[in-house]
Amino acid sequence: MTLHLPTLLLLQITVSLTVGLALLYVLRGPARRSLTPIAWAMLGNAVAYILFILRDQIPDFLSIVVGNTVLAMAVSGILVSLRLFYGQRPRRLPIVGIPLLFLVPGLILLMDDAPNRVILTSSVVLCEHLAILATLFQYGRQQPSRGANLVALGTLVISVGLLVRISTAITGPARLFTLLTSDWLLIITFASSFVTLTLYMTGFILMAEERARESTRTLAMEDVLTRLPNRRAILDALRRQLALAERSQHPLTILMLDVDHFKQVNDTYGHLAGDHVLTTVGQTIRERLRTQDLVGRLGGEEFLIVLPNTDEAGGKLLAETLREAIAEQNVHHDGEDIGVRVSIGMYCHHPAAQSEPQDLIRAADAALYSAKSMGRDQVVMATPMSAH
Ligand code: GH3
Ligand code: MG
Ligand code: MG
Repeated sequence: MTLHLPTLLLLQITVSLTVGLALLYVLRGPARRSLTPIAWAMLGNAVAYILFILRDQIPDFLSIVVGNTVLAMAVSGILVSLRLFYGQRPRRLPIVGIPLLFLVPGLILLMDDAPNRVILTSSVVLCEHLAILATLFQYGRQQPSRGANLVALGTLVISVGLLVRISTAITGPARLFTLLTSDWLLIITFASSFVTLTLYMTGFILMAEERARESTRTLAMEDVLTRLPNRRAILDALRRQLALAERSQHPLTILMLDVDHFKQVNDTYGHLAGDHVLTTVGQTIRERLRTQDLVGRLGGEEFLIVLPNTDEAGGKLLAETLREAIAEQNVHHDGEDIGVRVSIGMYCHHPAAQSEPQDLIRAADAALYSAKSMGRDQVVMATPMSAH
């Protein structure tokens, strides 16, 4: 089989152009702004290959100096995108400036020295792809992603291709540098860039999708006002913790906390003041808990606190601490000092008792009801009987 290099280059141009234009069309809107430089990179890639393929028809300066510089800029665009994606400043100056600084004078000097020109261009582009790999490793490590794995694979493939190209430039015969021949070594290097193009595109789009899915999932589980887990999330957590407690034979304590006379806060100071009280109470609870403890907003002015591996004594101590911490801290809103009191119903689940999450909730709720009827601003422990 004879592969025809100009055909490969044409294919590369067609795909880059199509993908670049398609991306520009799809990526309008702020949510995917970090991917926009990639769309331009694709178009740059197409321009570079058009200049390469026209090697014998246009001035060498255009095909060699401009073509290779545009190619390096396209890779810079991918690096800029990646940094934006990870919320980093894109550092456009070094990312774009350094390749320009090396390439333009270098290529002008080496216009008639094909092997060294290839070594220079390939080394600069190799460094850029390695910078992409390093960025993925530095910022992507905490968030495993199949999309990022594809991009990493792309950098490895192109690095091998570029290393082959650099080594043939050092050792190989001169015929490898007449761009439009069909030597298999040359074909390997161009095929590798084609594979990388595909892996980068698929990988980046997948990364954006994975991120969008993750943020939708977080939004669905988060209470908008307090940013704590919402009802669904905290009840899910309770179900998991209960299963864990029964398996490991550890006690599990839950607290149901309700703001006293909260309606009066709304009525006296307004709904926004009420919201402020809720966020402050949520924050105070979060700050006093251990890392393994969980808190969520059940709804209205009611919070559920799940304390894994905590017995009655520990639960009671924490409940009293929370009640006092909230009572001691006035909420400042619009020049007013709003005093807040809470009632807490507590239930401690012993591993021997087989219970469902709703049994625990019912018991804590009954205890909370007692706390309210006994005058509020206090903690009441559920008696084992009230669990059933
Ligand atoms: P108790 O001491 O018996 O708990 O009395 P309470 O006034 O705290 O309880 P009640 O259930 O009578 O009132 C709860 C109020 O909470 C009524 C509702 O308008 C208000 N509320 C529910 N959700 C929100 C919210 O997100 N923001 C604000 N500001 N108020 C809310
Ligand atoms: Mg209340
Ligand atoms: Mg209530």
